[in-house]
Amino acid sequence: MGPALDPARPAGRGLAPPGGSGRPPATWVGLDVGGTNVRAGAVDEDGHLLSWLSYPHRMTPGQFHAVPEAAGKALDLAQLSWADVTAVGVGIAGLVDSHAGLVVDAGNLGWHDLALGPELSRRLGVPVVIENDVCASAIAELAVLPGGPVSPWLYLSVGTGVGACVVLDTADGHPLCLNIGHLPVPGGSRLCPCGKYGCLETVASGTAFTRAASARIAADPDHVLHSRAATISGKDVVDSAMAGDAVSLEVLAAAGTACGYAVANLVNMFIPAGVGLAGGMMAPGSPYLVALIEAARRDITTWMQARFEFSCGRVGETAGVTGVVELARRRRLAGATVPRPQPRPAVMPGA
Ligand SMILES: [Zn+2]
Repeated sequence: MGPALDPARPAGRGLAPPGGSGRPPATWVGLDVGGTNVRAGAVDEDGHLLSWLSYPHRMTPGQFHAVPEAAGKALDLAQLSWADVTAVGVGIAGLVDSHAGLVVDAGNLGWHDLALGPELSRRLGVPVVIENDVCASAIAELAVLPGGPVSPWLYLSVGTGVGACVVLDTADGHPLCLNIGHLPVPGGSRLCPCGKYGCLETVASGTAFTRAASARIAADPDHVLHSRAATISGKDVVDSAMAGDAVSLEVLAAAGTACGYAVANLVNMFIPAGVGLAGGMMAPGSPYLVALIEAARRDITTWMQARFEFSCGRVGETAGVTGVVELARRRRLAGATVPRPQPRPAVMPGA
């Protein structure tokens, strides 16, 4: 179960006054489906969380029963029913086609060409909007940026994988998702699940640096983590780096440097007014973040150096849930195509 609700959490963008008709105000359900975690919450019209849960879960290829289960738990916790729900937003760690409700490629979930939106909508009986998880959390983080939202705004999130997006216009509805994980990086030679060699994902993601640390520690019988080298987690690597372990520091610095190279390329390309960095590795002072910013600054054009600032995520792990609800709300307000529940087949007379 996740942390207690934070009453000081900034409101999302309110688009309708709370209900005063005696009926409960309309509710949204947001889900954030990552490589190793599912997060969910019921969200009111003003963007406030009414319930919140987060738990470890690894999806099975082709299976998604955990998604409606998490949505149901979020509603139960808020003591609401499906009759109160306007729509469900689902943030997915992978490439999605929101218009079709399709998960095109989510390698860390084992989902490919999965019609998740229409299928969930049919099961739950409410409209379902599918979005990229990084675009979702970017919207939540941009809303609380010190000094107010700016554009273009580049946003990068590192967790199990590496994701990025750019907000080209704050008045526009949706960030542009960037498939950054498969940018080639210098020195990268490992085969990526996408079929190419040396993608950013194979060097800079949580999966990649955990694998690199595991191999180094397994080869060092004197290392304090040697006995469990095969099962260490990304958090173990970060924790031991923060405690001064040289191997973990080196591995995180190499991963952060590769990520910084990619960030520099995106900054030079999009000329953003700001760059947001989020994810477990982006805590102020973390070796990954320090290496990332140092490498990015080295490769960003000189005239651009003073024209933008890096900022670290402020919302935390609820950003994906509140952000995907905001994106779903915008998509419905814009009248965009949202997969709707399919009518159940009528029973033919005499059948
Ligand atoms: Zn790749």
